[in-house]
Amino acid sequence: MPLLPYAHAALAPAMSQETIDYHYGRHLQTYVDNLNRLVKGTLYEDMELEEMVCKASGPVFNNAAQTWNHTFFFEALTPTPKEIGSDLGASLTSRFGSLGEFKQQFIAAATSLFGSGWTWLVENADGSLDIVNTSGAGNPMTEGKRPLLVVDVWEHAYYIDYRNRRADYLEAIWGLIDWDVVACRLSGTCSDYYL
Ligand code: MN
Repeated sequence: MPLLPYAHAALAPAMSQETIDYHYGRHLQTYVDNLNRLVKGTLYEDMELEEMVCKASGPVFNNAAQTWNHTFFFEALTPTPKEIGSDLGASLTSRFGSLGEFKQQFIAAATSLFGSGWTWLVENADGSLDIVNTSGAGNPMTEGKRPLLVVDVWEHAYYIDYRNRRADYLEAIWGLIDWDVVACRLSGTCSDYYL
């Protein structure tokens, strides 16, 4: 299990302790437990998680990708968010026109995703930035894209706090994103703690 860089109650009220208890403590724990059970005695047993996400299919892929995606999601949330820094801000403004337009496009993509999945900010192989949706456990690394930010839009991410109001959850979670983590992912300067 990855460790959270904050206490379970630290993101309330935008994300309640009960949501973290269930989402991190039950849902993510189950993916980790399932994965450890599935890989035992297989060629995946000693493989790094990222390689597993890119090579596996079926139940191993689903549980490996859900483990990776949730870790990547939780580690870029913070109870003490700061403004988007200048380098990341310049990259986003150059691609999307403004930081407001980036937020609007990201939330529009996440709102329109049908069913369970994830909304990502990615860096394409040519260095350009994009917003992409994946369904189920999908991860853009399998298409050669480098993830920079992900938001979980499975119902279990917001149903305790927001019931069916996904748009309200997205607006609230925008205020919890740790842009310093997104920036160090873009520049490749994150500490070993992070994926
Ligand atoms: Mn989730």
